[in-house]
Amino acid sequence: MSSVNKTEPVIVHAFINGEQYETDKRAPRENPSNPSEIVGYSPENTREDTIRAIDAASDAFKDWSQVSVTERIACMQRASEKIKAAIDDLGVLLAREHGKALYDAKGELTISTIWMDYACGIVQEEIKDRVHEDERGRVIVTHDPIGVVSAITPWNYPIILALVKVVPALLTGNTMVVKPSPFAPLTITKVIEMIASEFPNGVLNIVHGGSDVGSELTSNPKVGKIAFTGGTKTARHIMKAAADTIKNLTLELGGNDPGIVLEDFDVNDDRAIRRIVISNFLTGGQICMIAKRIYVHRSIYDQFVPRYIEAANKWIRIGDSLNPDVTVGPMNNEAQVKFVQSLIDDAKQRGSEIIPLGRILDKEVYDKGYFLQPTLVLGADNEDPVVVEEQFGPLVPIVPYDSEEQVIAEANDSIYGLTSSVWGEEEHAIRVARRIQAGVTMINTGGLPGFDIRFPFGGVKQSGMGREFGPGSFMAYVEKHVLTVPKSGELPYIPE
Ligand code: NAD
Repeated sequence: MSSVNKTEPVIVHAFINGEQYETDKRAPRENPSNPSEIVGYSPENTREDTIRAIDAASDAFKDWSQVSVTERIACMQRASEKIKAAIDDLGVLLAREHGKALYDAKGELTISTIWMDYACGIVQEEIKDRVHEDERGRVIVTHDPIGVVSAITPWNYPIILALVKVVPALLTGNTMVVKPSPFAPLTITKVIEMIASEFPNGVLNIVHGGSDVGSELTSNPKVGKIAFTGGTKTARHIMKAAADTIKNLTLELGGNDPGIVLEDFDVNDDRAIRRIVISNFLTGGQICMIAKRIYVHRSIYDQFVPRYIEAANKWIRIGDSLNPDVTVGPMNNEAQVKFVQSLIDDAKQRGSEIIPLGRILDKEVYDKGYFLQPTLVLGADNEDPVVVEEQFGPLVPIVPYDSEEQVIAEANDSIYGLTSSVWGEEEHAIRVARRIQAGVTMINTGGLPGFDIRFPFGGVKQSGMGREFGPGSFMAYVEKHVLTVPKSGELPYIPE
């Protein structure tokens, strides 16, 4: 992959109907570690380009939906092998365009191929016909693909959050148009091209762009399903756009995940404290499923806080995403830096204590890039924006609580309910976890380390609709079709 080079800008194109589709208008993508360096360019596609991609997917659906599952698996397996062979190069490109540290970028690509292989291994069983036969006759339930799927994805985990849609959608016989975020458009385009070239033309397409492209993908009558990951505010627009043609939706949205530290948590357990720090600051806190507010029982609060600061200062090493010593890179974009900084400023103004965490490895790099030093906020009230809002950055408040009832109420007092974590004696933590309103609650771990691709992932309340990952992910891309063959086919109460 000669184009994945440290200095030469990488130019990616839309990929429509099996070929690169070039446009004159291109958007630069800078390196968040050093914004004066352009990592590459992605196209600014138009509504017409998007219609072309949807039409290609719609035409391809006629044949692809009839292809055997075995053949679909073979295409996906070839694609997975290609990606595995390119992880080192793709990881560098992802770290450079995104800002996440190199180990983190390669980790995302690795999880993506694990997901591809896992899905290939179980799809046959999951979508095979279910046949029911008894004295009343025979019923066959088939799992039919929906049609053209629009996949719209965010910047924070651009590869896995696209592939969690692409893999089950294609394996179940759908065709697709993917639209990634302009804040991390390069690596995913290469990955989609690698996958698409193992499938018949038109089965998998990718376009780039803003609201014109987005609104076409969410309203075009030929699109049967929208799989979206991103902000709750954007999802409201998408639901409205999808309403006219009643599209099938899967929505994976924002969160403000609570982490609850119980009174029986062992503050002397170094590994457990380190895991809490990682549950806050992996990928610079720019993960939907990261603990965004920590509640600590007042009886251990005074011991917990200094231990937390010590662990954070040890684990967090801030710098250029390609520096192998770095654990936390820059933030992805300037607007997000400003937003998180505004939450810190607001907390300070309200009288909270602001504690910078971690070590800046190179001040010169830090001053140039979209860096924000990871920050701990103490003394915030539960109503303060730093506690209530999804910060999506390297910032976390720690708030003391007095009783279990109180902390459960505070944890649940949110429009969101994505993930959460409970830390303490295992059975006690599980009892508390059962009362948290969330799609996932992790015990004595949090964020990515507590995530398991084999189980459903998603949120409750305004954190989303539907689930991704796990065997159930295929059901999000099929329609159950019931074929009934009753023995009599008649009803006794219908008169002759
Ligand atoms: P975003 O909502 O701003 O953008 C997501 C995608 O939607 C991008 O591709 C964007 O270009 C596109 N888009 C924007 N407006 C659109 C419109 N009107 N119609 C169609 N598409 C449109 O989100 P973001 O800033 O890229 O990502 C951060 C958000 O994503 C956070 O809220 C985070 O919690 C959430 N997220 C959720 C999960 C999850 O699994 N629940 C995972 C990762 C991120």
